[in-house]
Amino acid sequence: MTDHTHEFQAEVAKLLDIVTHSLYSEKEIFLRELVSNASDACDRLRYEALTKPDLIKDDPEFKIIITIDEKAGTLTIEDNGIGMSEQDMVENLGTIARSGTSRFSEELTGDASKDVKLIGQFGVGFYSAFMVADKVTVTSLRAGETDAAVWSSEGRGTFKIEPGTRKSRGTTIVLHMRKEAKEFLEPARLRQIVKTYADHIALPVILKASREGEEDETLNSASALWTRPKNEITKEQYTEFYHHVGQAFDTPWLTLHSRAEGRIEYTMLLFVPEQPPFDLFNPERKSQLKLYVKRVFITDDCEELIPAYLRFLRGVVDSEDLPLNVSREMLQHNPVLQKIRSGLIKKVLGELEKKASKDSENYAKFWDNFGAVLKEGIYEDAVNGERILKISLFNNTAGEAKTNLADYVSRMKDGQDAIYYITGEDLGALKSSPQLEGFAAKGIEVLLLADAVDSFWLSRIHEFDGKPFKSVTRGAAELDKFTDTEAEAEEESKPEDGEMDSLIVLFKTALEGKVKDVRSSVRLTGSPVCLVADDGDMDIHLEKLLKAHKQFGAGESLRILELNPKHALIKKLAASSKKNGASDALKDAALLLLDQAHIVEGDPVDDPVAFSKRMADFMAGSISV
Ligand code: ADP
Ligand code: MG
Repeated sequence: MTDHTHEFQAEVAKLLDIVTHSLYSEKEIFLRELVSNASDACDRLRYEALTKPDLIKDDPEFKIIITIDEKAGTLTIEDNGIGMSEQDMVENLGTIARSGTSRFSEELTGDASKDVKLIGQFGVGFYSAFMVADKVTVTSLRAGETDAAVWSSEGRGTFKIEPGTRKSRGTTIVLHMRKEAKEFLEPARLRQIVKTYADHIALPVILKASREGEEDETLNSASALWTRPKNEITKEQYTEFYHHVGQAFDTPWLTLHSRAEGRIEYTMLLFVPEQPPFDLFNPERKSQLKLYVKRVFITDDCEELIPAYLRFLRGVVDSEDLPLNVSREMLQHNPVLQKIRSGLIKKVLGELEKKASKDSENYAKFWDNFGAVLKEGIYEDAVNGERILKISLFNNTAGEAKTNLADYVSRMKDGQDAIYYITGEDLGALKSSPQLEGFAAKGIEVLLLADAVDSFWLSRIHEFDGKPFKSVTRGAAELDKFTDTEAEAEEESKPEDGEMDSLIVLFKTALEGKVKDVRSSVRLTGSPVCLVADDGDMDIHLEKLLKAHKQFGAGESLRILELNPKHALIKKLAASSKKNGASDALKDAALLLLDQAHIVEGDPVDDPVAFSKRMADFMAGSISV
């Protein structure tokens, strides 16, 4: 190894291996990736030149030039963008710098067919050059600097960076084409690829004349797609543009292209992806909307432009009113930007509302992907929270399909004045919660809220359409006022008068300090016991969540243990307590049932050793030989 040789980051080496050895069907996308990078490089320099105009003085027309050399078997892609220094090359062309890389490499399986799919989601970027080339050299000069550098690699584990020469700023990429990829040296083929993938790029992509008598040819329309009239843009062009700005590979679920005119003028071209990006919940993941000012790219890292709960959006916003020399710092608290932001939110929510009401099946797909993100807006956005709540969908005990709140309310039983819900981490576990039993028996629907964000919005929003939200794990259930739907439930035998009372007194003594209260339950039908929170206390699940996030220091609130008076075991215990008074067996039963209630909640038992001893003793007592 010479001094100039570097090793690829492990993830890149894996990726290159897959890229070169799997028969990736769409080899032509290498050109899309390289042209896209060239266009990004021009955008970045154009922005930098706003404050340092000297950088582009000698060559102000940005362009991308493609040259075919049939004899040498090479294809060259050249741009006069920002260029790369030697250091830039080490960082950008030897690693994967994008966010989510670690997730990406964790998920690589080594099974090519699976990994190709993952790459499809993640994007191959620059490295796609190795699908068609067995050697790649990149010569680049960073704008404003004097020393050029040459990067070269055969895509097999290492790359080299050496000093080089390049007359003016920008980047030249030479691809030594593989034998099987010679089709990409045909002008007609290149023309077709650029038309398909790069027509929307705002600068000219020029094919250099390679044969006698030919002329240079601009292959694309070279105008920013969002500036063109809607009716002149095809669906395919929108999709291609989405792939370019969104670094995405699916078809957009929603395309929203609109122009705001009046006191503040801007154009937005926004997309909602069809598939969730795999790092949607990565806390580092930022908004990926690109902000332009009068067609000049400013930044793709502007938190002021969209709220976090719309972070699944891709696309561009182009403002006519911001000053061109706007610095990233000036974007904070900028009144123009704030108006754009609120206009954007209104537009997007308006569009989602339309979909929710006119095409609910399709909307449900969107909701499955991004609902948990959008719901953050219910409590984060004081202005639009209610609108979001209205188009939110929730799992429900009524069936498999999710419901919106208006529909839930329309199905409420006579006399039902609250919207009932239960929160938890796991939908499956929620469905079998004992606290739901009584509600099921009375035919009352309960919302099953399994996203972490649900507990948060519920702590801020207390009602919908005048109906309060009520947790089925908190307070006394007012189930007595509803008649049972199951006829056989009518004549159930309960313990004799006074038996339940004496059992409750006994349990209270046995569980002193471990529960807040013991009482008879109306919400249980099948299970013997369950835990609920007192009316004024925090919801059980929310408390757990806050504890997990270390937001809730002062210990746990004590819960109320509810006993099911219709359960055979409770009936037996009640009869025994009336007849024989306190006994060790009853005390053990109280402790065992409390542990059982904790287990059902998914909590650990207090003292596992004592628990299992009691359990064994109890079983020994109940088995006759
Ligand atoms: P991405 O474009 O998603 O960042 P790529 O693999 O396509 O990922 O490119 C990696 C990085 O290499 C780019 O982010 C950029 O910094 C640098 N790069 C690639 N091509 C060029 C170019 N033509 N000019 C300047 N920088 C480039
Ligand atoms: Mg790229």
